[in-house]
Amino acid sequence: MPETPTSSAREKVFKGIAASPGVAHGPVFIHLKQDLEVPRREVPPEEREDEIARFEQGLMETRRQIGVIRAEIEEKLGEDEASIFDAHLLVLEDRALIEDTVREVAESGYNIEYCLQRVAERYIEAFSHIDDAYIKERVSDIRDVTQRLLKNLLGRKDPDLSKMSQESILAARDITPSDAANLGSNRVRGIITDLGSRTSHTVIMARSLNVPCVVGLHDLSSELRPGDKVLVDGFDGIVIVNPSESSLFRYGEIKSARQAIEKRFKAAKNLPAVTRDERSLSILLNIEGNEPASVFEKSGADGVGLFRTEWLFLRVAGYPSEEVQFEAYKSVVERFNPRPVTIRTLDLGGDKNPHGSMADYREANPFMGFRAIRFCLEHPEVFKKQLRAILRASAFGKVKVLYPMISSCEEVVAANELLEECKEELKREGHAYDKGIRRGAMIEIPSAAVITDLLAEHSDFFSIGTNDLIQYLLAVDRVNDRIAHLYEPNHPAVMRALNFIFEAGRARKIPVSVCGEMAGDPLYAGLLFGLGASELSLTWNVLPEIKYLVRRMKLADAEDLAQKVVAAREPKVIERLLREFQEEVMGLDFPHFQQP
Ligand code: PEP
Ligand code: MG
Repeated sequence: MPETPTSSAREKVFKGIAASPGVAHGPVFIHLKQDLEVPRREVPPEEREDEIARFEQGLMETRRQIGVIRAEIEEKLGEDEASIFDAHLLVLEDRALIEDTVREVAESGYNIEYCLQRVAERYIEAFSHIDDAYIKERVSDIRDVTQRLLKNLLGRKDPDLSKMSQESILAARDITPSDAANLGSNRVRGIITDLGSRTSHTVIMARSLNVPCVVGLHDLSSELRPGDKVLVDGFDGIVIVNPSESSLFRYGEIKSARQAIEKRFKAAKNLPAVTRDERSLSILLNIEGNEPASVFEKSGADGVGLFRTEWLFLRVAGYPSEEVQFEAYKSVVERFNPRPVTIRTLDLGGDKNPHGSMADYREANPFMGFRAIRFCLEHPEVFKKQLRAILRASAFGKVKVLYPMISSCEEVVAANELLEECKEELKREGHAYDKGIRRGAMIEIPSAAVITDLLAEHSDFFSIGTNDLIQYLLAVDRVNDRIAHLYEPNHPAVMRALNFIFEAGRARKIPVSVCGEMAGDPLYAGLLFGLGASELSLTWNVLPEIKYLVRRMKLADAEDLAQKVVAAREPKVIERLLREFQEEVMGLDFPHFQQP
């Protein structure tokens, strides 16, 4: 565990990966999920009736819990979403499942939990071989419901994030995007996790919610005790458990120095993104759709460059209806009109695995698996609902549609065909939409980067997803903290690939924007414009800093920098060039806990 020598008797200082900027301090809320281990116990014949009675009670309690969830979802999201839980209730009514379990107790003489698990596994196994979307959904329902029922029978509870009673620092081994999707309404001051990296989707969500976050802390969560106080420094990746008075004092100083710097950034926020050599650039927002509405007011953005739509799918089991999606897209489009909004189609899979809809697709290698456009093209019924909702929203402003995880021309062609089908349907139904809606491909897989000239024949624009492009180019899993040091944006291969994509875009007169996390990093923003980015798209809380940088730089200098960087042969040389440029342009002295 990387514990620094500054640790005093009580306080302990840990170093992880700085994932979302800011400093937070508060009591810790430990969120450790337990793997469900189902014990096997022999039950004497005279106690078997009690075992069945426990089963009936468990069924009742589970029914009650699902009823509560259903009512909550109905209130928040409507009947369509809530009806998913009807399927869960049906599993609990399934006579065959119940009777088989009761029989299993009589025949095997084992406890009810063990018998239930065995019966459920038999059902799941039998259903899994049937290639039918409806049956697959039932498998997912059986799995969800039996897990809940088993937890009730065993008296186990996962700590519930919504039960945080006071503003706290959330500590976890890992946080799934589904957990993160529920963070907005919670009292989370800061987040620390053992696993994860800067570009995991959970971290991106934390950043968009402006919650300071440090990840890659190895086993820290198991060392924490309820009642510990934790300080999170998301600027430098430092976590202090039970900080001393002098550390708190030092952080007081850091906070006020940072605030003074932030004031300067904020002053630039609503000014145009014009460089010192009078070149007008575009800075747009990456949004998840769950940001507080206030962040869009006077955001200083020229529009939305990436609307990640997964949040809509992660917050509930199943798929949101066309209507729910349409309302969500329309409200963003109207808010930004006449500025453009690029809506990205569903990018589930990888580290974004919902509890319901896709839970059956368990994969050894999810980032290389059934993700995003691959899933959508195999599920046109899900994809078309989304395309229709996006098209309908396009009647209310300037909308572009963006396909994620493109690896071949065929995928873009197939997606465009479905889009055309949706247009025809909407026309017949009398719905308005933008007939000339622009269609873009994300360039985030090396194969797409290499065939940008071919993709250009079927696309109106490109958006580079550097988070995935780097992971696939370097074969470094973007959420694996053990190899986080190999996730190297300064690798010459990354620079050459970026340059190649921009050159291809220029040759085909296709605008190329960047929406990965590099775009919002002041170390790279100048470089990306210098390489030829038409727009950078980034989270709202880093926008003021990037605007500040753009207004203080000359595009001609950024272009010089880009030439040098593309010619450089070593990551450390590239990093030095970038740091020198950033320091010269920004001229700021950032405070640190210890000088790094
Ligand atoms: C990317 O890969 O850079 C990107 C913007 O998409 P996401 O982070 O959602 O995968
Ligand atoms: Mg991506």
